[in-house]
Amino acid sequence: MRWGKDKRQGPASLVIGAPVAGTEGAVAEIDDRDDGAWSGLAAADSAFDAATFLGWARGAYDRSGALWASRDAEPLRPVMEASVFDRYAQEVLSASSLPGPRSFAMAATATARLGGANAGGAHHNAVAVFDATVADASLCSTWGLPADQARWVDRWLFQRPTSCSTPVSGAVVVCPECGAPATDGSPRCRYCGADVSAQTGGWLVTRVETTMPWLAVAEDRLAALRERMADKMAEKLPPLPTRPSGPVLQPPRAAPPA
Ligand SMILES: [Zn+2]
Repeated sequence: MRWGKDKRQGPASLVIGAPVAGTEGAVAEIDDRDDGAWSGLAAADSAFDAATFLGWARGAYDRSGALWASRDAEPLRPVMEASVFDRYAQEVLSASSLPGPRSFAMAATATARLGGANAGGAHHNAVAVFDATVADASLCSTWGLPADQARWVDRWLFQRPTSCSTPVSGAVVVCPECGAPATDGSPRCRYCGADVSAQTGGWLVTRVETTMPWLAVAEDRLAALRERMADKMAEKLPPLPTRPSGPVLQPPRAAPPA
């Protein structure tokens, strides 16, 4: 079953963004299989290396962890598609203003794996999966949450046009100043010190899915609130006027000047 397809049965999730138009089928194939296969991308981009990519994706993901702590969204901006960034940063910033979610996120540790990668729809597509756990179980009771909420899954979809390719070194990012591969996720080139934090090799996060209880539940609550507001608006609006029956009367035209 596709991850997150049936939200009523699985844990509540928050989904922000969507695959680039034309890549839906290719991305659905990754989500359906979820087995880490990346031969489909290797065929299109021969230097792509799954482990190196995952290391870089992990660095991008860690910037969202830092966002909870620092409440500074800017480091995350370069790795996300603009509309995804706007909404995701807004959600995290609003949740991180509360002590419960913030202490949870800061206590979490995550392991990363590749959901899969392929080429399709004129794009390279790769899903990185992060399994997050809060080891300190007492945090759950402190905030009145069931213990199973100390685990959640984040899935980030990275996409780039097929005009991009991985350099022969296999590095995702290459220093724009000296050309050295930058693979350790550091914001600075380790050879010349240039800022490489905005370099992504063309990859951008186009979809974020999370089952983190605070974000997912907040979204459920917001959705319910929006629905109630829509109902209220409908009650308060005056009824639409009914169409007049019979021939439509028009004023007689003035006679053209002689
Ligand atoms: Zn450099």
